[in-house]
Amino acid sequence: MRYVIIGNSYAGISTVEAIRNFDKEGEIIIISDEPYLAYGRPLISYWMGGDWETKHMYYRDKAFYDTMNVNLRLNTKVKTIVAKMQRG
Ligand SMILES: Cc1cc2nc3c(=O)[nH]c(=O)nc-3n(C[C@H](O)[C@H](O)[C@H](O)COP(=O)(O)OP(=O)(O)OC[C@H]3O[C@@H](n4cnc5c(N)ncnc54)[C@H](O)[C@@H]3O)c2cc1C
Repeated sequence: MRYVIIGNSYAGISTVEAIRNFDKEGEIIIISDEPYLAYGRPLISYWMGGDWETKHMYYRDKAFYDTMNVNLRLNTKVKTIVAKMQRG
């Protein structure tokens, strides 16, 4: 099975964790138009105010994607989705 997740934020990484609960082998691709690992939006104002370090912004570190065997494609915007029906 191949899973393609558009968006590398909280929903994206939660989806990865849910998939890996029942499928350890399937290919997972995350596509995000942002250049960053998943980070906490609620922390942005603290970060901008200088009260929060960049390294503490992230929900998960790079090792998470490696451990979960995720093909992470940052800086990539999805423009169209072509859904094909499979028969049988
Ligand atoms: C400043 C700020 C403060 C917040 N504070 C709170 C709070 O205190 N409490 C709270 O509960 N919620 C808060 N929120 C809301 C919370 O951050 C969101 O509910 C949460 O981020 C939603 O997560 P998500 O993964 O569904 O979507 P998002 O976080 O919106 O992530 C979607 C991702 O998909 C990417 N994407 C979208 N379209 C494409 C495309 N076509 N191709 C490739 N990538 C794409 C986006 O770049 C983004 O990285 C706050 C939000 C902001 C901006």
